[in-house]
Amino acid sequence: MMRQMSLQYDVIIIGCGPAGEAAASLAADFRKRVAIVDARGVGAAESDRADGRLGFFALREAAMVASGLARMPLPGLHRTETAGQPLADFAASRQALRDRAGDRIKSALDRPNIDLHAGRARLIDGRTVDVTDGEGRSTTLKADFILIATGSMPHFPAGVPADHPRIAAPWSALSLETLPGSLLIAGGDAAAYACASIFAALGVKVTLACPDKSGLPFLDVECRDHLALAMKSGGVEFRFGSAVRQVDEIKGGRLRIVLDKGQPVESDAMLWHGARRAAVDGLDLEQAGVELTPEGFIAVDEFARTNVSTVFAAGDTTGSGFLASTSVAHGRHAVSQMFETTLKRRADHLIPTCLHTIPPVSCIGVGEDEAREAGLPVVTGRALLQFNARGQAGGERTGILKCIFNRHNQKLLGAVIVGREAPELIHLAQHVMIADGGIDDFIGMSFNQPTLSELYRFAAYAALQSIARFEERDDDYGVLAKVA
Ligand SMILES: Cc1cc2nc3c(=O)[nH]c(=O)nc-3n(C[C@H](O)[C@H](O)[C@H](O)COP(=O)(O)OP(=O)(O)OC[C@H]3O[C@@H](n4cnc5c(N)ncnc54)[C@H](O)[C@@H]3O)c2cc1C
Repeated sequence: MMRQMSLQYDVIIIGCGPAGEAAASLAADFRKRVAIVDARGVGAAESDRADGRLGFFALREAAMVASGLARMPLPGLHRTETAGQPLADFAASRQALRDRAGDRIKSALDRPNIDLHAGRARLIDGRTVDVTDGEGRSTTLKADFILIATGSMPHFPAGVPADHPRIAAPWSALSLETLPGSLLIAGGDAAAYACASIFAALGVKVTLACPDKSGLPFLDVECRDHLALAMKSGGVEFRFGSAVRQVDEIKGGRLRIVLDKGQPVESDAMLWHGARRAAVDGLDLEQAGVELTPEGFIAVDEFARTNVSTVFAAGDTTGSGFLASTSVAHGRHAVSQMFETTLKRRADHLIPTCLHTIPPVSCIGVGEDEAREAGLPVVTGRALLQFNARGQAGGERTGILKCIFNRHNQKLLGAVIVGREAPELIHLAQHVMIADGGIDDFIGMSFNQPTLSELYRFAAYAALQSIARFEERDDDYGVLAKVA
């Protein structure tokens, strides 16, 4: 092994996923000297994992086109049998994405005070990291702080043969090689839902085996049901409260999947989004004295600090959320704790959540159930995409935007959207919340015509009607806006 010089930084960030990238940018904004280390070469997409990530987004784009055609068939463009087709053909944009993603991350982190190190990191102690690149060269990095943002990895139970060619791990769906006729997806988080809706849109018979009573616990129940209904009509079968116990190969290379509730499922392939643990193999955490939780994640306090005062952790590696947006927030939070800087706290607590399902979902602030449980004086306003002119033009049959307001002062407390453009639309609610605005802002705003953004005005009017009814009848029912 060749050894290079030792380099000194304010912070070393291990892992360049959403948590690490956000943390590095913020630390650089604070004029700190930053080293960011990633095993996949920071944007060079050298590993299967990076490739799988882009493959997922390429597949999703193809699935969006397929779902658009299912919603609005066009003359001369029709769907044909998809089972058995090479999966790579559905992810043809992967190469272009790979080039652009590398460029995007590199340019985002192309700052004079950020050094990118491609290689596998290993902790020597609470302030020292060793990085070994693909050619076996080793570099020693030193810093006041270390942030671990290496994500998570699947944890297969004993009865699941992880190396079976028809069983794929997260980010590895393309390793199935051909589009299966049927697919069981194990798990109930954002990734499991996203994959289920994508494969269903591509014509696969999908079963989503969710270990809990319901998936997506962070989501407002009404909107979760709305999403489940849309996914069911897209061909997804849900099996709630059903964790995968055992998988065996049967005739023709198919899989027989035993769940802990209900009948076993026979399927051409399985995608694992079930149990996971922190991706810390080879990091030598014990050497630096960093402790894990009993579930196998890095233990952190509310300040993102591990039991070693100079070592922080953020994102999936801490086992919280398994969402890109929460990982970004954690990364930023960790850096602001290290350097004791005060972010705009209100803005930083308004973190939108986004599910790349078909249809997509996004939410911000408090959900209706949470607000009611907290005893807040809630009034809701809903608007459906099928009653909106732009939604109608796009053939939308599902989709909802719901705003949660404080009934007394009419301020916006939260919003949730299921449907086309949800990840973009949510930012309007975010800005209104940052500005401490509410019903009046949506009603007073001029919108382009026809747009999905107008849904906010319909929802605000619906909330106003609800307030009027409440005042008249002393009850509180959200009213559905049917304004076209
Ligand atoms: C198929 C799929 C679909 C998903 N869909 C959604 C969705 O719709 N919405 C949503 O919010 N979230 C979704 N997620 C979850 C989201 O992608 C994760 O929550 C997020 O990527 C976690 O970010 P992170 O920065 O913590 O870790 P990661 O993104 O996992 O990044 C960790 C990085 O650390 C690097 N690394 C690991 N070990 C080392 C080491 N020893 N040395 C150096 N580098 C190392 C890795 O190369 C990697 O780049 C999905 C996930 C999957 C798999």
